[in-house]
Amino acid sequence: MNILVTAGATREPIDPVRYLTNRSSGKMGYALANAGTTLGHRITLISGPTNLDIPPNIDFIPVETAQEMLEAVKNNIGGQDAAIFSAAVADYRPSSFSDKKIKKTADSLTLELIKNPDILGSARLQFKYDGILVGFAAETENLEINAREKLCRKACDLIVANDISQKGIGFDSDHNEVLLVYPERTRLLPMDSKERLAHTIIEAVHELRTGTG
Ligand code: C5P
Repeated sequence: MNILVTAGATREPIDPVRYLTNRSSGKMGYALANAGTTLGHRITLISGPTNLDIPPNIDFIPVETAQEMLEAVKNNIGGQDAAIFSAAVADYRPSSFSDKKIKKTADSLTLELIKNPDILGSARLQFKYDGILVGFAAETENLEINAREKLCRKACDLIVANDISQKGIGFDSDHNEVLLVYPERTRLLPMDSKERLAHTIIEAVHELRTGTG
């Protein structure tokens, strides 16, 4: 299969030295890319900045902002058998960028934020993508209900849901426990390394593509 993976956090600039981001490490997305090549698939990895090594034998497209990630997805999603959106895209970005470093003269500073595009949500309607579509959901409550709502709203075949209120798993961790949420069923993947979970997720995506799931 040809598989597109988005990974990492996006970085939304405020001025030449400052930006908004989040705590995503990118580990899950990079583990998916590595598992994909190990299982014989062709991977295109579109990634925000991370501290991770670029996986070997893949097409790697580095981006910084959500808007750059949107463009990269738009230009590369055609011809993919599956697209897995594991990036932690910043929901908002500063409404303007200051060319000059903002001085700390005022006692308070108000930043206006505007909503970023929903990249996963654009796949079906805007980009007319008709391959297997997989999203991630990080939730602190009502895991399955919220994941199922996302599955419908973003027209996905599968949502990989994780409960980020549990300590020691998820964000910035090497381990995770996820619930695979399909339109008709769920499957729990108990706590394991992100590498082994990634392997199982790629196999699940392959089953969806080949109709063997
Ligand atoms: O709506 P929410 O942000 O919780 O959805 C998470 C899923 O949507 C993830 O798969 C994430 O990669 C994707 N997403 C996206 N673009 C956004 C926000 C989320 O692709 N702007």
